[in-house]
Amino acid sequence: MCGVVGIVSNGDPVMFDIFLGLRALQHRGKESAGSATYDGLQYFPVRGMGTVAQVFANNGLKQYKGPSGIGHVRYSTTGTSSIENAHPFEGVFCGDLFYLAHNGNLVNTQELIKICAGRGMTHLSGMPLESLTDSALIVALISSSQKTEFYAALSESVRLLRGTFSLVILYKEFVYGVRDVSGNRPLVYAEGRGIGVLASESALSTTLNIRYVREIAPGEIVRMAPAAYPASPHIESVETIYGGSRAFCVFEHIYFLRPDSSFVGLRAQLVRECLGKRLWEEHRDHIDADVVISVPDSGNAAAQGFSLASGIPRRDGLMRSHTERTFNDLYDRREVGLQIKFGIIPEHISGKRVCVVDDSLVRASTMRKIVGVLREAGAAAIYVMISAPLYTDPCYYGIDTYRVKDELAAKRHRGDIEGIRKEIRADKLCYLSTAGLSLVMQEMTGRAGAESEYCMACFTGKYPMPISDV
Ligand code: SF4
Ligand code: MG
Repeated sequence: MCGVVGIVSNGDPVMFDIFLGLRALQHRGKESAGSATYDGLQYFPVRGMGTVAQVFANNGLKQYKGPSGIGHVRYSTTGTSSIENAHPFEGVFCGDLFYLAHNGNLVNTQELIKICAGRGMTHLSGMPLESLTDSALIVALISSSQKTEFYAALSESVRLLRGTFSLVILYKEFVYGVRDVSGNRPLVYAEGRGIGVLASESALSTTLNIRYVREIAPGEIVRMAPAAYPASPHIESVETIYGGSRAFCVFEHIYFLRPDSSFVGLRAQLVRECLGKRLWEEHRDHIDADVVISVPDSGNAAAQGFSLASGIPRRDGLMRSHTERTFNDLYDRREVGLQIKFGIIPEHISGKRVCVVDDSLVRASTMRKIVGVLREAGAAAIYVMISAPLYTDPCYYGIDTYRVKDELAAKRHRGDIEGIRKEIRADKLCYLSTAGLSLVMQEMTGRAGAESEYCMACFTGKYPMPISDV
């Protein structure tokens, strides 16, 4: 999971808006951040390890000039967490530089390396292609194209990629946006105040005080160019590649997105409330509780839906310090992050039968600690309610759970929910069913069979695209 942004303006520098946009996407990755702008004569690239504030804090933004630019926040999907793997990546096409940032995960990197080798390219920026991340291979592919026009090389390259990708690319004053045919990763367009913005999340339109316009369609390639004042910078849909079926990531709805962002036309907050409501409906016969609390912030919306549907009052029992988000933290830092993450309001817990609602349970280490904290606060019973199905299979399309697949709670317990319940020491552990998840997607979209347009592989093991590469 990563976040991308691409901005053009009527002439003013775009760097400050890129910075604000990246900060608003920080929850999508904080291992590294970077950007590149172009002022008509020269590029201004910057990349660094850490959060957006850390990367840009000591570099006055004014030095990054120009009315076009792109930015990226990274949560590593492939490759190690290092500065070489930070986006955007630099390439050279027919003697001209370009920059590319990617959210997603390619599954045919071996094939792409062969194609580049067949064109006589074995290294990119001095690095052997075998050592590159999938994202850098896209740059290699464009750079090694025999085409003489940049767009032709981009269009040709996009057709060779397999897997998931939302891309933003800066070539001279142009910013291109690309979304793969499955639509797995989000990409939206918003405009106003003389800027046009491509971004991973629609909530950026509020942050930047502009108007949300639309999602980039699956398979669509768009181009933006800065315009002379007072004209609006315009976005042009250059082409749409067809073929392949939709595989929108259902986990965007469940967890990744900010609650105020929408994806496939659905506001994340509302989908999550509906998941919470459905969770209650599936388990109402055996849940008798006094209070509903959420695991903040990811469980808030589902807890709201659960409480409204059940009539069990919702209280803020756990408080989060707004410094850590464990899913984004690396493995050994994770445990440290947990210790400082939650505070507790014992008056809402003591002597009560507590439903604690979270959006998902991946490794279960967080939940085990939470149950311990609630127990210490005197909870009479602890029912752990998960508003997603059992997380059985790793993701190969944009988050790196395949690298920790042996740590997945469901894998460790061979799918035995009772085993997980014992591990986290809850009195009950309840999941939403996969059928319930499908029903929620139908209810929210108003379309029968809507679930067939989604990837739900981490709950079903049914991968909608090949995963041969990893
Ligand atoms: Fe999203 Fe899960 Fe599919 Fe990965 S496997 S794309 S997280 S739904
Ligand atoms: Mg959580």
